Amino acid sequence: MLDFSFTPAEEEFRAGLRALALRELLPRYREGDASGTYPAAQIRCVIAFADDFWRGREAERTLVVSGITAEEVARGDFSCVLPSLGPALNREFLDAASPELRARWVPGLLAGDLVLGLCLTEAGAGSDMGAIQTRAERRGDVYVLNGEKTSVSFLNADVFYVFARTDPASSDWRGLSAFLVPRDTPGLSTEAYDDMGCRAVPRGILRLANVEVPADAMVGTHGEGFPMIRRFFDVNRAIIGLKCVGAALQTLDETIAHVKERVQFGAPLASYQGVAFPIAEAATVLELARWQCYRVLWMRARGIPCAVEGAMVKWWATKVAAEVIHQCLLLHGHRGYTKRLPIEQRLRDVIGWQIGDGAPQIQKLIIARSLFGKDFLPR
Ligand SMILES: Cc1cc2nc3c(=O)[nH]c(=O)nc-3n(C[C@H](O)[C@H](O)[C@H](O)COP(=O)(O)OP(=O)(O)OC[C@H]3O[C@@H](n4cnc5c(N)ncnc54)[C@H](O)[C@@H]3O)c2cc1C
Repeated sequence: MLDFSFTPAEEEFRAGLRALALRELLPRYREGDASGTYPAAQIRCVIAFADDFWRGREAERTLVVSGITAEEVARGDFSCVLPSLGPALNREFLDAASPELRARWVPGLLAGDLVLGLCLTEAGAGSDMGAIQTRAERRGDVYVLNGEKTSVSFLNADVFYVFARTDPASSDWRGLSAFLVPRDTPGLSTEAYDDMGCRAVPRGILRLANVEVPADAMVGTHGEGFPMIRRFFDVNRAIIGLKCVGAALQTLDETIAHVKERVQFGAPLASYQGVAFPIAEAATVLELARWQCYRVLWMRARGIPCAVEGAMVKWWATKVAAEVIHQCLLLHGHRGYTKRLPIEQRLRDVIGWQIGDGAPQIQKLIIARSLFGKDFLPR
């Protein structure tokens, strides 16, 4: 009934991608953080490798392959993960877009030539996405958008995926619609944050002042934007879990090498149980977390609802990843605290994704509702 193995092609892809991540991405990881430079060349390098690998066998390039990509790319450079995830995840993301919109945007996004920013969060609508205030008013053949999005990753985007209220009478998640808005549309302006982590990917504010888009820039059905993106979140939460686990697994590998090498009190650190046991515990929780993430992808691929399982891995896999990286940092002593090693950067990067795409309490609300029934908890 169960099969916990990757296919031979997936295994080969994983091995090749890991080698590439460690050879091409890891040496430049620090540079992106220090300079805030978007890693466009590195992302294209990952995409080229994956496209070459899967050419002629596209049907095998499933969501599990997106998961492997998240895990392995994060070993090299956390910032390169999201744009490198390939067609299976993009299908989930822009599935509801019209053929014309897909033809205009998807090839460039898949090639890494274009960047997309997802725009939901607002000053008054963070965890409570149903409180979105940005308006999209229909005027003839166009919609006119007004509002402010306060947390857009990929603020360098060529196109923004903006969620706005198209039904002015609605006040919750009903009545929201989504639009693809090109960056050069008059009325758009941006302001970047100085973030703690993920610094190679700019995040910040997107302002929309009388931004006009054609009516056919709408993605999906009028008023149905929220259920559409929620479906994407279910699976994206497993991808986020895998990228955090990948960063932690790489840190764990580096830490194992370090404690075997480093001698104190006349013996390698690895010979002390106080060092070996936290590493054994870290290996255990990461192994459990990564398989739970892959299980979510497996469920989605079979059409099995996975919102609760997605919520579980989102809060838990990201938490254990951050904890493992923190523990590994301590096991490196003062060197772990410097920017000469990538550990502190990984910790900063992973913490961001404990929040991004839904903070832990929101995931626990989803799980609790499934356990108690929604009448016991507020929306
Ligand atoms: C690295 C990063 C990338 C991001 N990228 C994007 C992006 O690309 N696009 C986008 O739109 N947004 C993005 N976000 C925003 C992110 O989705 C929101 O920050 C998140 O949904 C939480 O909203 P908030 O920050 O307003 O916090 P709040 O909603 O104010 O929550 C603050 C705290 O209160 C808790 N809380 C809230 N409500 C409840 C409740 N009912 N019960 C118990 N606890 C509760 C939360 O869990 C959280 O810990 C990103 C954030 C980060 C950090």
